[in-house]
Amino acid sequence: MLDDLRELYQEVILDHSKRPRNFRHPEDANHEAHGYNPLCGDTVNVYLTLGPDGLIEDAAFEGKGCAISLASASMMTEIIKGKSVDDARELFAGFLKLVKGEDDFIDAGDASEKLMMLAGVREFPMRVKCATLAWHAMTSAIDNEEEVTTE
Ligand code: ZN
Repeated sequence: MLDDLRELYQEVILDHSKRPRNFRHPEDANHEAHGYNPLCGDTVNVYLTLGPDGLIEDAAFEGKGCAISLASASMMTEIIKGKSVDDARELFAGFLKLVKGEDDFIDAGDASEKLMMLAGVREFPMRVKCATLAWHAMTSAIDNEEEVTTE
């Protein structure tokens, strides 16, 4: 599965890193967190607009870093928008298992394909922290922790 996706994975990652989706600071964001990956120097600010019912109404980010960190943040905002906070946490937990090599497949509905592509970084252990940075920042934002580092 990962092998079949390698080429597509590279194309999609490149596209998202060059033209990140949801790269903005929404005025009505009510949760945010800053993430830093000292290994690579990636920084990301994740902005969430959470509704009273625990739905992620909007997800956006700003940041600087390598292609993987930008692509991961871009894809994450697309994946979690419209999902519940609980679903977003569950997706991150599943994604972590993928990148750590504990699982080879994830069943996450419409998000599965993107998560599998991002999980291609598991072949490059140095890049795992780049790929998970925005996700750590996302859960920190939900939990109202303002700073997160991958160390
Ligand atoms: Zn990086």
